[in-house]
Amino acid sequence: MTQFTRLPRFNYRIAALTAVLAFIAMLPMPNALAAQTPAAGEPLHVVASFSVLGDLVKDVGGDAVQVTTLIGPGVDAHTYDPAPSDLVVLEGADVVFENGLGFEPWLDRFFESAQPSAARIVVSEGITPRTIDDETAESAQEAQQHGGVDPHVWHDAANAIVMVGNIRDALVSADPAHADRYEANATATIARFQELDAWIREQVATLPQDRRKLVTSHDTFGYFADAYGFEIIGTALGSLSTEAGDPSARDIGLLVEEIAAAGVPAIFAENVANPDLMTAIAAEAGVQLAPTLYTDALGPPGSPGETYDGMMRSNVMTIVDALKG
Ligand SMILES: [Zn+2]
Repeated sequence: MTQFTRLPRFNYRIAALTAVLAFIAMLPMPNALAAQTPAAGEPLHVVASFSVLGDLVKDVGGDAVQVTTLIGPGVDAHTYDPAPSDLVVLEGADVVFENGLGFEPWLDRFFESAQPSAARIVVSEGITPRTIDDETAESAQEAQQHGGVDPHVWHDAANAIVMVGNIRDALVSADPAHADRYEANATATIARFQELDAWIREQVATLPQDRRKLVTSHDTFGYFADAYGFEIIGTALGSLSTEAGDPSARDIGLLVEEIAAAGVPAIFAENVANPDLMTAIAAEAGVQLAPTLYTDALGPPGSPGETYDGMMRSNVMTIVDALKG
């Protein structure tokens, strides 16, 4: 028996990041001293932490920016550990976009240690965060990790509009030569998301009020539920993060009782979580497991969830169809 196998995951990740930073310090860094404004003719080099945000940045930046998304489609951001190549990309960036609200704790460590020249933009700035009280936090560690707030703001289209405004302002400030383009792209994107928001409300209105109840893998739909009038019955992991350990047999039993009491015909798996747990819970509760929702990541290219707009429309259609029963 060794002590190392008992180290909490968090400490292991700090150790891994430290090793990676030491590796980076040995690399040649042609961009390390680059100004934040791109050279003439060069696209602005921007980094987005995860796929949903990357899509919004592409919408606003268009061909004036070169976007690198670190955490790609279908990949779980909660359990992400940066690779050396990701940190090299961050070193060379003019602007780094992050969700914030505790979603990317590894970025704090990177900016503290490597002190890159990039502007660091938190796109959830200006959104009123949902808070989790201590009773609902799975553990003190989880509450601390998330700063006690829910990071999943993008599931409300109104919040995506705020994010787009923040992206526009940051790009205009970093690259004023293309300000007109960023402003026009943002205006068009905001109009699309206003339509999306109205469309979601129309779809949800077709679902009887007592059917607007969600059971998912982890607690990712709080903003969606608040915005569009759903109730979260429960989640398999009982947590705002997918890092929570599997639930006990007792927890699953309680959730199955809640599903029965709610009378929902279906529960939902997520594209960033193993569906086996939800399959088992659906079987035990005697309800359908609906087609998988896009939650903390976009779907792969060619899938309905390959863009933010597509992911939202796909989720809403899946939810409404499944809960109509
Ligand atoms: Zn999540």
